[in-house]
Amino acid sequence: MLLRLDHIGIAVQNVSDALGFFERALGMKLDHVALEEGGRTEVAFLPVGGSEVELVQTHDPESGLGKFLAKRGEGIHHLCFEVDDIHAALARLRENGAQLIDETPRVNTSGMQYAFIHPKSAHGVLIELYQKPNS
Ligand code: ZN
Repeated sequence: MLLRLDHIGIAVQNVSDALGFFERALGMKLDHVALEEGGRTEVAFLPVGGSEVELVQTHDPESGLGKFLAKRGEGIHHLCFEVDDIHAALARLRENGAQLIDETPRVNTSGMQYAFIHPKSAHGVLIELYQKPNS
C-alpha cells in the first residue's frame, strides 16, 4: 500500500551550488548530506511539511543520473512514494506488466529499502518506492 509522497528528487550538477537556492534563497532547512551508492551519488535532504526535497548529484557520468543530466539537464528527476511493503508493491507492479529498474530493493545508508520503476512504464516519470526500516 502507498502511504505518502515521501520526497521529490531534483537532479543537480552540484549540490553545494543548488543549496544556494534551495536553502539560502528559498529558505528550506538542510537536514543532512549523504554519499550513497559507494560515494558515486551525493544527496542533500531538505524536509518540508511531511515530505522532502532531495537534491541529487552524481560523480559518475555513466550512471542513470549522469545520463539524465547530460540529456535533459537539471530538473525534477523522480517522485518517491513510501510504501508499507516494498516486496508486495514490486510484485503487484510485476503482475501488472510494469518494467522495474530494481527487481529487488536496494538499501541506502539510512537503512531504507528502495527500488525504482522504469519511466517507460510510468508515463515518463521515474518513480521510487521507499520502505522505512521499522515499517
Ligand atoms: Zn529519491
